Amino acid sequence: MQYDYDIIIVGTGPAGASTALHLVQIAPELAKRTLMLEKERHPRPKLCGGGVLQDGEFILSRLGMDIDTVPHVVVKEAHFQFEGRGFFIARQPVSFRVFARDLFDQWLADEARQRGIQIVEGTRVRKVTPTDGGVIVETDQAAYTARAVVGADGSLSVVRRAVPGARTGHTARLLEFYIPPENTPPENHDKGIFDYKVIGQGVQGYVWNFPMLSDGRPARNRGIFDLRMHDSPLQDLRPILQQAVAEDGQTLEDYALHSHPIRWFDPEDSFAAPHILLAGDAAGVDPTYGEGISFALGYGELAAHELKAAFARDDFSFSGYKTRILKSRMGVILKRRRRLAAMLYSIRNPNIQRLIWWRLNFLLRWYVETFLIDWAK
Ligand SMILES: Cc1cc2nc3c(=O)[nH]c(=O)nc-3n(C[C@H](O)[C@H](O)[C@H](O)COP(=O)(O)OP(=O)(O)OC[C@H]3O[C@@H](n4cnc5c(N)ncnc54)[C@H](O)[C@@H]3O)c2cc1C
Repeated sequence: MQYDYDIIIVGTGPAGASTALHLVQIAPELAKRTLMLEKERHPRPKLCGGGVLQDGEFILSRLGMDIDTVPHVVVKEAHFQFEGRGFFIARQPVSFRVFARDLFDQWLADEARQRGIQIVEGTRVRKVTPTDGGVIVETDQAAYTARAVVGADGSLSVVRRAVPGARTGHTARLLEFYIPPENTPPENHDKGIFDYKVIGQGVQGYVWNFPMLSDGRPARNRGIFDLRMHDSPLQDLRPILQQAVAEDGQTLEDYALHSHPIRWFDPEDSFAAPHILLAGDAAGVDPTYGEGISFALGYGELAAHELKAAFARDDFSFSGYKTRILKSRMGVILKRRRRLAAMLYSIRNPNIQRLIWWRLNFLLRWYVETFLIDWAK
C-alpha cells in the first residue's frame, strides 16, 4: 500500500518540534517524508510559566540551536520554600530561563520548517485509527495515511485515545495569570519562587512567582499547581491562589485567570501502540514541579530514534519504546520525581512540612541538585 507520508507528527509544541528536528539530524530521508499537523497557527498562545531548565538547552544545543537567540528572562536563583523559608539553587550560568511560549514554540517550528519539515497549521486532528500496516489520521480538513504517527498533541491528546491501556486521569490542575509591567515590582526580576505553603490547604503542589517579559518589559507570571495524585477532596484553587498572592498586594480580580492541565508521568502507563508513539505531555511529564518543556524535548529525541529503528527493521510494533523511555536518563529522573511527588504531596501536616523545608532543607537541596536535574547533559 502507498502511504501519504512515512510519519505524521501531531502537534508542533516542544515534543513535536523536537521529534522532527531529531529526525532531520539522524534520519534525513525520513524527515523528508514527515508531515506535522497543528491545530493553531504560530505564534499561538500556550498557557505556561515558560521556565526552561538547562536540560532543555543541552538538547537544543546538540541540535545546533542557540536558545539565547530567543528573548527571555534569566533566572539566577530558584527558591523553593514553605511559608517563606527553604532553600535556593543558583546554578551557573543560569538556574533557568523564562520564555514567552508563543515565541519559543514559533522559533522551534520555524527551525523545523527551515530544515525541511512540512508543517500544516490550522488543521485539527480528530481521530487516529491504526490499520494493518499503518494509521489513518483524520483531520477537520482531510484524511492522511502514514506508517507511523507521533502524538505530540499535549495533555488533552487525541492521539492518546488510540493507545490501548493509556491511563485516564493523571492530570494536574493549574491556574495562571500575568501581572503586567506597570504593576510589577522592580525587585526580584532574577528570582523564581516556588512556595509549597498551599499543601496545608489540601493542594498537592505549590504556588509560583516567576519573572517574565511582556513586550520586552519585566512582568510576573503567577500561578498554582495541584498534582491530584492522591485521593483527597478537590479544593477550589481560586481562593487559595488569591490568598497566596494577597501577601504581595495582588488581587486576582484585577487579572484574567487561565487554566490548563498537565498530564503527569506514570511508569505503569502505556506510551505506544503499533504504529503510534506518544511524546511530551501526551505521554506524561514531571509530577513534582510540572516541568514539561525539557522533558517534551527529551521525549522527541527518544521518539525520533524509535522511528528510525522501526523503519530500519520494518517493525512498527514499538514494543520496546516504553522500556527505552524507562531506562533512559530522562525516564530515571521522571521516576525519581514521581516518587518525590508521591511522598511530598502526601504529607498534609504543616508541622512535618516545616520540618522538611526548614530543618532538612539542606538534604532536599542536595537531593534536587544531585538526582533530579542535569539528565540531558
Ligand atoms: C499553567 C502552566 C504552566 C506551566 N509552566 C511550565 C514551566 O514553567 N516550565 C516547564 O517546563 N513546563 C511548564 N508547563 C508544562 C509545559 O507547558 C508542557 O509540559 C509542555 O508544553 C509540553 O509540550 P508538548 O509539546 O508535549 O505539548 P504542547 O506544548 O501542549 O503542544 C501541543 C501542540 O499540539 C497542538 N494540538 C493539540 N491538539 C491537537 C490536535 N487535535 N490536532 C492538531 N494539533 C493539536 C497544540 O496546539 C500544541 O501546539 C506548564 C503548563 C501549564 C499548563
